[in-house]
Amino acid sequence: MVFSLLSRTLLPRSTSLKFNLKHLQTTRTMKVQSIPMWTGSSDNYAYLVIDDKTKDAMVIDPANPPEVLPVLKKLIDSGEINFKGIINTHHHWDHAGGNTKILAEHKVPVIGGHDCEAKTKTPAHGETFNIGEGIMVKALHTPCHTQDSICYFMQEGHERVVFTGDTLFIAGCGRFFEGNAAEMHHALNKVLASLPDDTKVFPGHEYTKSNIRFGLSVCENEHMRKLKEFCDKHKETQGKFTIGDEKKHNVFMMVEDPAVQKATGATDPVEVMARLREMKNKFNPATLKL
Ligand SMILES: [Zn+2]
Repeated sequence: MVFSLLSRTLLPRSTSLKFNLKHLQTTRTMKVQSIPMWTGSSDNYAYLVIDDKTKDAMVIDPANPPEVLPVLKKLIDSGEINFKGIINTHHHWDHAGGNTKILAEHKVPVIGGHDCEAKTKTPAHGETFNIGEGIMVKALHTPCHTQDSICYFMQEGHERVVFTGDTLFIAGCGRFFEGNAAEMHHALNKVLASLPDDTKVFPGHEYTKSNIRFGLSVCENEHMRKLKEFCDKHKETQGKFTIGDEKKHNVFMMVEDPAVQKATGATDPVEVMARLREMKNKFNPATLKL
């Protein structure tokens, strides 16, 4: 699946691309290509981010090289990308475990948290770098799932995306393997919630269908019901929802919502987060009629 994210700085929102080809020459584009790794690690996504102008590209969490290397080879051989590096969201094997094998064929830097395999650079919180000329990348440290978890916010013109690894999923969040509820609350409801609402979310796994079933067992609203309908019709949800959507359909980003507070029996946001995670860990969708 390819997401072509057109900058609208030079192209008015109402302009039809089809009939205004002359604009395309001056329009800068960020492309996000999903690489579902369904055979190697079951439900993970790797992502290729391409700066259209320079064709410079970096790959995010290429954990299963047998599924990623052929995609890279095809695009490199056809001159569609210049492969410039690996970015990791955290050190778990199903995200950073393919680095060494990718490096055996491509000598590129590895940008990731301190425990990531073959890592060559760990950006500081808030540090920025570029992909090609057009894409600005900002590292956002979000320790909790692992202490080296980093989300990557990317912007090209008015188009914004964030790669959230196992910190934020569509309608859910990662387990607190190396952290606590206070850290996840900070990561989701301070750091990621501060991004522009139109930032598209690209998580590390396709867990949306089970996440929204859990969410609907906590409380209901029209945004959550719409997400469930979307999941009933579509297998892949990455890049289809924004940070603004998450604030309305992800119970872990609704810790101030009275319905979520009532369901958890707590009002302190960190306590609400802790109880939601406990409830999710025990959740058995088989017992629900959703
Ligand atoms: Zn993980």
